[in-house]
Amino acid sequence: MNTFHSTRSNDETLTSRQAIRRGLAADGGLYIDDKLGAAAIDVAPLVGASYQRIATTVLAALLPDFNAEELRQCVEEAYGTQWSDPAITPLRPLGDDYVVELFNGPTSAFKDVALQILPRLMARTAQTPAERAEKIMILTATSGDTGKAALAGFADVPGTGITVFYPEGKVSDVQRLQMATQTGGNVNVCAVKGNFDDAQSAVKRIFADEELVRSLSQEHQVTLSSANSINIGRLAPQVVYYFSAYAQLVERGAIHVGDGVEFCVPTGNFGDVLAGYYAKMLGLPVKHLIVASDRNNVLFDFLTTGTYNRERPFYQTTSPSMDILVSSNLERMLYYMADKDTRLIQMLMNDLTHWGAYEIPEPLLGKIRRLFGCGWADENQVRDAIRSCWREHRYVIDPHTACGYFVMQQMPRDPGTPRVLLSTASPYKFPRVVGEALGIDDTNSGDCADDSTVSPTVASTNDFAFMDALAEVTGTAAPASLRGLEHATPRFATTVDIERMPDVVRQAAAAL
Ligand SMILES: *Cc1c(COP(=O)(O)O)cnc(C)c1O
Repeated sequence: MNTFHSTRSNDETLTSRQAIRRGLAADGGLYIDDKLGAAAIDVAPLVGASYQRIATTVLAALLPDFNAEELRQCVEEAYGTQWSDPAITPLRPLGDDYVVELFNGPTSAFKDVALQILPRLMARTAQTPAERAEKIMILTATSGDTGKAALAGFADVPGTGITVFYPEGKVSDVQRLQMATQTGGNVNVCAVKGNFDDAQSAVKRIFADEELVRSLSQEHQVTLSSANSINIGRLAPQVVYYFSAYAQLVERGAIHVGDGVEFCVPTGNFGDVLAGYYAKMLGLPVKHLIVASDRNNVLFDFLTTGTYNRERPFYQTTSPSMDILVSSNLERMLYYMADKDTRLIQMLMNDLTHWGAYEIPEPLLGKIRRLFGCGWADENQVRDAIRSCWREHRYVIDPHTACGYFVMQQMPRDPGTPRVLLSTASPYKFPRVVGEALGIDDTNSGDCADDSTVSPTVASTNDFAFMDALAEVTGTAAPASLRGLEHATPRFATTVDIERMPDVVRQAAAAL
């Protein structure tokens, strides 16, 4: 069962439970499983099966030391009525292509797929009596989406707690209210004076503060952990939607079991698309994976040149969850593509740390490029994509999904191979950007509805006014959990200086 180890060394082996509990390896590497794909998943029996059954099957292959009953329980709790669609990740036609919606969870973004189940898996990782006495406190700095999805996932999960820091004034109204109204006896939300990087750096310092970590453990039996996407417990649940999408394609008669499919994936940290590669290694007939980036196109440059260079300007875009310069999960793909060569990975990551860049050997790049395509969209292209997707398909997409839509339109079609776009957020999470792209603003009447009708103008420029206008123009409905925020009462209203963050953590630990 000890088949997990770091991408950078073989020194220590762990079970999947231990890998989830630890998150990141001590040498800075990511946990990977050498047995991955040793036994392929038989796709045929999954056709027509519920999302929950597919999830139990896929997770059993990825997390081998969890037993079937535990996985069934976790899946049942994570993918229940908190999802607005019984298919969880429904597949819909989009012209000649398809879109799989990953945003029907409680916070309306794709991170729910993983963060609804990770806390349940985490709660079952305690094996020794000492571990069972311990409470895990998740510590996260967020620029918006991850914080809320993590709060919703960990709220009231026994044996866990969560503290989220966000930069004051740097998240949208909707995002701030989503977090500040979070219910649960084990959650804590705090604004900090500074930007996201300041908050993120302070969280890293807290993790590295041995004295603080020791006192939390001794005085409160609390150990700190993180919920970010390098945790294998976040990656594994994402593999499920690839199998589900494929099964739905077969069910619709679009393909037969065994036919190849292409997925186009908006990604920043390489987590969303890496899950597709895992699906392929588990036997799913994935023909191509298209990596779609926003203006922070470091992955595009890497996949076209073989050089990963993080020394570049950082752009704040309308797709903030993809604004990333270091794509952590890329390391896992490189490990498997490089035939599990830990020494090569260690060398490359060393170069990244010391020089800000690394270069992979030409044959390795060639091998990667046979599976992974790539493209990116600038801000104008994102807006145009939102508009043209609505015009042509009467389907509203958010700015992250729009990067994928634009890139998919650019790619030459592989005849006979269906293409599936992964849709990662509800357009109602970004009502202003989407509304403006569709021509709804406070000066002119929108041009996105039938040209004969006059669309509303937005009198006020707040996010909720844009939500209402978007609903009216497109005939869709805002998720109640987002629309209802306007009149919800915030529970958390504290703002602290960066230096005070450790005190907030101490108090939260004492209260757990
Ligand atoms: C996090 C996120 C992504 C990118 O996910 P990766 O893990 O970086 O691949 C894309 N879209 C939305 C809306 C997200 O929240």
